[in-house]
Amino acid sequence: MFEKLAEMIFKDVEHTTEYYIQKYPKRNLKEGARVTRYAPSPTGFQHIGGVFAALIDERIASQSEGIFYLRIEDTDQKREVQGAIEDTIATMHNFGLDFNEGMTGQDTFIGDYGPYRQSQRADIYNTFAKDLLLKGLAYPCFCTPEELTELREMQVANKITPGYYGEYAKFRNITEEEAIKKIENGEKYILRLKSPGNPEKRVEFHDLIKGDISFPENNQDIVLIKGDGLPTYHFAHAIDDFLMRTTDVIRGEEWLASLPIHVQLFEVLGFEAPKYAHIPTIMKQDGGSKRKLSKRKDAEAAVSYYKEVGYPTVTVIEYLLNIVNSTFEVWRAENPKVDYHEFEVLLEKMSKSGALFDLVKLNDVSKDCIAAMKAEDVYANYITWAKEFDEEMYKLVTENEAMTKAIFNIDKEGPKPRKDFAKWDEVKDKVSYFFDELFVKETVEQIELPKGVTLESAKDVIEVYKNEFNFNAESQEAWFEDLKEIGLRLGYCANRKDFKANPEQYKGMISDVAGAVRSALTHRTNSPDIYTIMHIIGEDKVRSRFEKFLSL
Ligand code: GLU
Repeated sequence: MFEKLAEMIFKDVEHTTEYYIQKYPKRNLKEGARVTRYAPSPTGFQHIGGVFAALIDERIASQSEGIFYLRIEDTDQKREVQGAIEDTIATMHNFGLDFNEGMTGQDTFIGDYGPYRQSQRADIYNTFAKDLLLKGLAYPCFCTPEELTELREMQVANKITPGYYGEYAKFRNITEEEAIKKIENGEKYILRLKSPGNPEKRVEFHDLIKGDISFPENNQDIVLIKGDGLPTYHFAHAIDDFLMRTTDVIRGEEWLASLPIHVQLFEVLGFEAPKYAHIPTIMKQDGGSKRKLSKRKDAEAAVSYYKEVGYPTVTVIEYLLNIVNSTFEVWRAENPKVDYHEFEVLLEKMSKSGALFDLVKLNDVSKDCIAAMKAEDVYANYITWAKEFDEEMYKLVTENEAMTKAIFNIDKEGPKPRKDFAKWDEVKDKVSYFFDELFVKETVEQIELPKGVTLESAKDVIEVYKNEFNFNAESQEAWFEDLKEIGLRLGYCANRKDFKANPEQYKGMISDVAGAVRSALTHRTNSPDIYTIMHIIGEDKVRSRFEKFLSL
């Protein structure tokens, strides 16, 4: 139809649509294999919602032995942020979300369906846009931004559905001659879809998460190619997901409203539409109401936060899996040691409405994950974090590697491993007393004593205990028996009832003796068992700490 016009607008287009359809053939994958993509716009640093989406994409593809790829959607070049692509790639790698295909840098990629960066695919979009123009399914529109604003204002004032469509689409029926003349005159234009939709009719659709939905057909003449020559999200989405042979488009629910446009685009382009899954937005409880997790208000919205405070990446992933499928929690409880990759993510089981993000719950999940890790792995993870974020601890810990591993191993082997840390920035405070360098800095005011025990009475205990205690007791029980005997001799009571009946006859309870020893060794009232601590720090340190305590 618009042959001359098409040649004029797309003079640089060399290929036919057929060329690209053959260049990027249907993938040869096993039955049931799914092809998914993570398709961020490089407009900022990674948001936890991005990791959430990428995780679902990666799991769905990997579980089915399909392909997961990274596509950079940079058609809105004004909003592009320097370094965002590199940040995306690094984040995905850190979280173990490695992709099979996609951009590996600004201009480099792996895979046969590239380039995977939209700004490098202009020739492809143009080829398909030219085809639509030739078929009378697209046209150039010369409206100025002012004209469009005016149109909208008029529509709103008259309670008419706003937009550029039907009788309000000024250039919908422009003739070829008219268009050529305007272009020759240097008038600016964009390319619009000549929508064949009728909003009186409805389209039915099945979303893998939201279920069956229906909506009126699209009749807006949406923009296909913008003034800068790049496509809109809508057009690029249809072309890319078809040519990259995506089977499942998994994306944020903010795109659900655009689905009528997308379904129509696939139709006019003659492409088979993919399956869609619209994932709920990550929300946060804020007082009595829920709101979107916001980069501006919530530190935890930025992926960098998790690294800085030291959540192991696997714990963040496990927490996100809890949001993806609530059945993950039960699965994890039943399979405490199994790798999360063994859990099968099911889109159908995902909550249709909000995905609530809760730091308290993340901490619980993270404590469980760290508790289930081997001491060696806790050590390796911790020094990686400390190297970047806590130099002092990095030095102390690596200089005392064996002791640190022993600390991380406390109670590990038992049926109920300790749940001391949710993140690495909590480690220092919890273990500082093991390290002389930190311990000596503590002041008398920092020393905690059991209720009712004074520093003087604790010293009286240590004065005797230091000479009589048996460092080489065979077991924790034997060690405690030894401590109890010393306590009894000193006039402490082993039985709560007896003590309650005649408190004036005793100096206190045996637990106060243990408390005094604990305090002399750690300055705290709360710690793992004293016997274990003594054996980790060793006899010399135990003795010198007793002496130091007595000299306070
Ligand atoms: N570039 C779009 C965004 O960041 C991606 C949507 C999609 O996955 O299709 O919102």
